Amino acid sequence: MAQKLIQGVKGMHDILPEDAERWELFEEIVRGWLRDYGYRPIRTPILEFTPLFVRSVGEHTDIVEREMYAFEDRLNGDPLVLRPEGTAPCVRAVLEHNLINAAGPQRLYYNGPMFRHERPQKGRLRQFHQFGVEAFGYAGPDIDAEHIVMLSRLWRDLGLEDDIWLEINSLGASEERARHREALIAYLETHIDLLDDDARRRLHSNPLRILDTKNPALQAVVEAAPKLYEFLGVESLAHFEGVQALLREAAVPFKVNHRLVRGLDYYNRTVFEWVTDKLGAQATVCGGGRYDGLVEQLGGKPTPACGFGMGIERLMMLWAEVQADSVRAEPDVYLVHQGEAASRLAFRVAEQLRDHGFAVIYHCGGGNFKNQMKKADASGARVAVIIGDDEAAAEEASFKFMREEGEQRRLPVAQLGETLAALLYNVEEEDGSV
Ligand code: ATP
Ligand code: MG
Repeated sequence: MAQKLIQGVKGMHDILPEDAERWELFEEIVRGWLRDYGYRPIRTPILEFTPLFVRSVGEHTDIVEREMYAFEDRLNGDPLVLRPEGTAPCVRAVLEHNLINAAGPQRLYYNGPMFRHERPQKGRLRQFHQFGVEAFGYAGPDIDAEHIVMLSRLWRDLGLEDDIWLEINSLGASEERARHREALIAYLETHIDLLDDDARRRLHSNPLRILDTKNPALQAVVEAAPKLYEFLGVESLAHFEGVQALLREAAVPFKVNHRLVRGLDYYNRTVFEWVTDKLGAQATVCGGGRYDGLVEQLGGKPTPACGFGMGIERLMMLWAEVQADSVRAEPDVYLVHQGEAASRLAFRVAEQLRDHGFAVIYHCGGGNFKNQMKKADASGARVAVIIGDDEAAAEEASFKFMREEGEQRRLPVAQLGETLAALLYNVEEEDGSV
């Protein structure tokens, strides 16, 4: 009896070859762009100890309150979690390996899956992927601006510059946020009967987040609430002004959104989001900012820091429209063969051609020449190399161009690589003729 199929876990998607090829191209573009700005990769494990995120992201955040895949190690009871974000693990690794003290400021990036137990919907998954950048040891507004400017270049490189725009804000310093917080709580308490359940729950734990509410009924209350920027001191304002001046210098358009807060507790000063109107409610494709307190909070020396994370799934949805064609890599050669001796020779010829740098698909699974030639055509290969009993007996191979005019030709196997290199890539043959 057929067994029942086991399904994948809800909210965790398979990425099938057609899409995965596009992802790989995207990743190559992003890696090249990161290298061009001097960022170096860091890879951290997917599992971390749970307190890392409780202490960094913050106890009263969506992530820690209800979205973490946290569990106990069955063998020793360790509290573990599938990482919900990449910044805290990066800080942990940098501290554990003493990178900043040993080598000075760091420009780093990571790429990989993150896990949050959210309600799955378009652009919102339980396993999703991020590219993230973190810079440690730079206090000035130049690095904040660098992150924003480099992102604006990436959108251009991807052809997404018309779909994504930038909002920025400053969250100031912790004393400034504390004074604003008092004023905000006092204000919201006088409007308690207008607040929804979410807002009431957050009133004393995370009132700033209420300003970020999507509830239309709360917009008026929130609009009239005390603004954080009214509480910013000269230094915070100067830093924010510095970021803006550099963005103007680089001609990157932005909108200051004084209600912009991020969902994680560790941010201060600059915060920013890149948003789109093409993905419905899941509008943010990239978010980031400064988190000068986090390194110390996780046990290091005080170290200014700044970074961002971008959601690959959301970007891929946008990019699929720009990059609609298949990005499948086509082989140079498809190797067609029939008969025992021919197949053995073909197997050797395939490796020989790979030695010459060709991408070669060796036909597997038998079938007559006609069927194999159909497969060769479907593979997109430029050349079919054909070896049958006749060729095998003479140590020869035939070849035929699949997408161009021309007769089938036959050659000694030893000459095949050079001849094809000459024909396909205009590389000179040994005797100088092409
Ligand atoms: P959102 O506003 O969508 O909840 P967030 O503020 O929780 O996002 P961050 O923690 O800043 O997001 O993560 C950075 C980026 O990762 C987001 O801008 C988004 O593009 C992406 N992202 C976050 N959560 C998810 C998810 N559950 N599924 C897919 N992408 C996500
Ligand atoms: Mg979220």
